[in-house]
Amino acid sequence: MEDDVLVIGGGAAGLMCALTAGRRGRRVRVIEHANRCGKKILMSGGGRCNFTNTGTTPANFLSANPHFCKSALARFRPEHFIAMVEAHGIGYHEKELGQLFCDESSKQIVAMLLAECAEAGVRIDTNCAVDDVAALPGGGFRLRTALGERRAPSLVVATGGLSIPKMGATGFGYELARAFGHVVLPTRAGLVPLTLSGKHLEHYADLAGVSFHVSARCGKARFDNAMLVTHRGLSGPAILQVSSYWEPGKELLLDLLPEHEIADWLLERQREEPAAELRTVLGDVFPKRFAQRLCEGWFTSKPMRQYTHGELPAIARQLANWPIVASGTEGYRTAEVTLGGVDTDGLSSTTMESKHQPGLYFIGEVVDVTGWLGGYNFQWAWASGHAAGTAA
Ligand SMILES: Cc1cc2nc3c(=O)[nH]c(=O)nc-3n(C[C@H](O)[C@H](O)[C@H](O)COP(=O)(O)OP(=O)(O)OC[C@H]3O[C@@H](n4cnc5c(N)ncnc54)[C@H](O)[C@@H]3O)c2cc1C
Repeated sequence: MEDDVLVIGGGAAGLMCALTAGRRGRRVRVIEHANRCGKKILMSGGGRCNFTNTGTTPANFLSANPHFCKSALARFRPEHFIAMVEAHGIGYHEKELGQLFCDESSKQIVAMLLAECAEAGVRIDTNCAVDDVAALPGGGFRLRTALGERRAPSLVVATGGLSIPKMGATGFGYELARAFGHVVLPTRAGLVPLTLSGKHLEHYADLAGVSFHVSARCGKARFDNAMLVTHRGLSGPAILQVSSYWEPGKELLLDLLPEHEIADWLLERQREEPAAELRTVLGDVFPKRFAQRLCEGWFTSKPMRQYTHGELPAIARQLANWPIVASGTEGYRTAEVTLGGVDTDGLSSTTMESKHQPGLYFIGEVVDVTGWLGGYNFQWAWASGHAAGTAA
């Protein structure tokens, strides 16, 4: 056999796995069906790739088995990736909450991974679709590809999730997993804007572009960050984060003023500005258009002195528990990630190897491990890619 390891998918996880295995002296070939590797890396972080989060812990990931990601994350940590970034002279900065971005361009991250692959002797076949995968009777795999037949003892599936089909996303990895006896947990779009419809959309639609800080909660998940009103619903980091926890029918609540003890604050404003209308008072803490809408649609605006002591706490409760009735999400077209995927029960948490088929590995987003917004998904891609790369 010409190759020791075949990696299907030249994205974040696939390239990390390839360079890690290549450094061990394994003869590695990456098979990528798009015309170039790392397209999602290129478009990530608004073109600056939020390549890791220094505060990464297993609690930043969603998975049917929250323990599965621990081993790989512990062995390849943000500082390991940062060391590689620094060794390549790539400038970076922390934006907020441990999120590291390139100073210049995400192209530098792709160039770095490709340079490391080249250094490790990794061969990369782009424009190469895989038509068929079969296990060989004596062990190993045979692939029929657009560029001919490939055989190797190890096969790594790094085909990513379903988000952004335009970028080459396919369900190939899930189909392959099923063919080898793996359970694939239901997939859905994550880190995705929410859509509203009917009267719920009417309340907000003409406020498109308005943005302010909220705390969004769904079940036990809670995210304090910006919310943005769009023409079709709601977006912004707080909404994207909570969208991964939301499903139709689940309650979604916003605290519209998370930085205030709202009842105390309203009573204080009543004492200090008794003649000011509620609209004006709310206009000090919300964008004016939103404050106006609150007083047209939900509250009656009158001078603060006219509110009874029961009314202001009631308004405060409403502002702190603002229900959002989402009709759905924008789906895979705009989602940053895919939730669900290859069930971790069928994989080794130390090597990502299949428990059903020796020599077969699943890494990155195709696996049922999904990170929060903020560099966690790449950290999972690097960590799981590294785990498989040290074993395959
Ligand atoms: C717009 C956007 C911005 C993002 N920004 C960030 C960010 O800043 N930080 C962060 O942590 N995460 C971010 N993410 C998420 C992150 O990009 C993914 O979680 C990560 O790329 C997953 O890595 P992966 O290698 O598993 O999959 P991918 O990077 O998607 O790579 C999969 C590769 O497999 C190839 N492939 C698919 N099917 C086949 C097939 N049948 N045959 C051959 N090749 C195939 C694809 O073309 C692709 O190159 C962003 C995602 C999007 C969509």
